[in-house]
Amino acid sequence: MNDAKVQDVLELLRPDLQSFAGYSSARSSAQQGEVWLNANESAWPNPADARGSSRRYPDPQPAALVQALAALYGVSPAQVLVGRGSDEAIDLLVRAFCRPGQDAVLATPPVFGMYAVCARLQGAPLLEVPLVDGPNGLQADIDAVIATARGQGARLVFLCSPSNPAGSEIATSDIVRAARALAGQALVVVDEAYIEYSTQASATALLADHPNLAVLRTLSKAHALAAARIGSLLAAPQVIAALRRCQAPYPVPQPCAELALAALQPAVLEQTRARIAEVAVERERLAARLPDLPGVRRVYPSAGNYLLVRFEDAQAAFDALLAAGVVVRDQRAAPQLGDALRISIGSPTENQRVLAALSARRAAA
Ligand SMILES: *Cc1c(COP(=O)(O)O)cnc(C)c1O
Repeated sequence: MNDAKVQDVLELLRPDLQSFAGYSSARSSAQQGEVWLNANESAWPNPADARGSSRRYPDPQPAALVQALAALYGVSPAQVLVGRGSDEAIDLLVRAFCRPGQDAVLATPPVFGMYAVCARLQGAPLLEVPLVDGPNGLQADIDAVIATARGQGARLVFLCSPSNPAGSEIATSDIVRAARALAGQALVVVDEAYIEYSTQASATALLADHPNLAVLRTLSKAHALAAARIGSLLAAPQVIAALRRCQAPYPVPQPCAELALAALQPAVLEQTRARIAEVAVERERLAARLPDLPGVRRVYPSAGNYLLVRFEDAQAAFDALLAAGVVVRDQRAAPQLGDALRISIGSPTENQRVLAALSARRAAA
């Protein structure tokens, strides 16, 4: 990677944090020893901790887990920051790159809400470039993203692909175009929380050529470990190092790291991939059936494990599903989605229940 270009990205960090060393934890020293009395830990495990694996503070970035994630995502370990879900990475990015009242965060609504929430918490201005509705669905307008980011001083640009809740994807060529156009001005962050369900290649392959690009990945969705809270930020090693200094001292709880590592063993990954394929089949089955059901206006194409659906009466559809015991996400408060619900793809039986609940409405109406 071009060092001058990496330096340009580091200069996008908040100036007051550029020489910030962060917290020096008991696990960050390289000292060797046999008797560890430097962190005020208990000398005995908790009786409930059968293997005694939680007595000590954990490795801030568990090496074996970082290695396994790097292998999974096709990057080097130095390009990985592990945190408490990609939610933590989003928060860290905004805190490290945006001066309150000054450096803007750009998002493309309707989209995942955390970008705006983190901007708000940091006091960073929020720039919104709406998705554009067309025959292929609700798509990001990359020309407008670039123009707005340049014109209004965006420091972070969040591109969600596949987009939640819209389901649409951003072409690799458009991601490259945005990264190029915003070099020296903004870090372009591609949130790939659902990329496993897509047939498009991950933007991680672009990292080597574009230091102002970062990618968010997570084990919460396709890997079925939402409660373990393991998300990754993938970026240039220098960017990762800078963000590590802003992160909490022990961000990855030991039991979560162990579970995640176990989930990344080849035999488990094989089963995960089979589930992902099953979800894609179910998604297409639902996407084919739903448009024929009463009151369904439009089903958007989706590369994720959910479908965005417009209804003639979204409240009635929501209520009918709820009466059948099915809870879906009401999207009506989101811009452009005043008649829409987002339905996660469940097991075949669960999906059948969705179809049955919505079909039954003809009789009731
Ligand atoms: C679910 C989701 C996340 C959050 O993932 P965690 O790793 O569980 O924090 C991030 N981005 C998008 C678009 C999501 O839908």
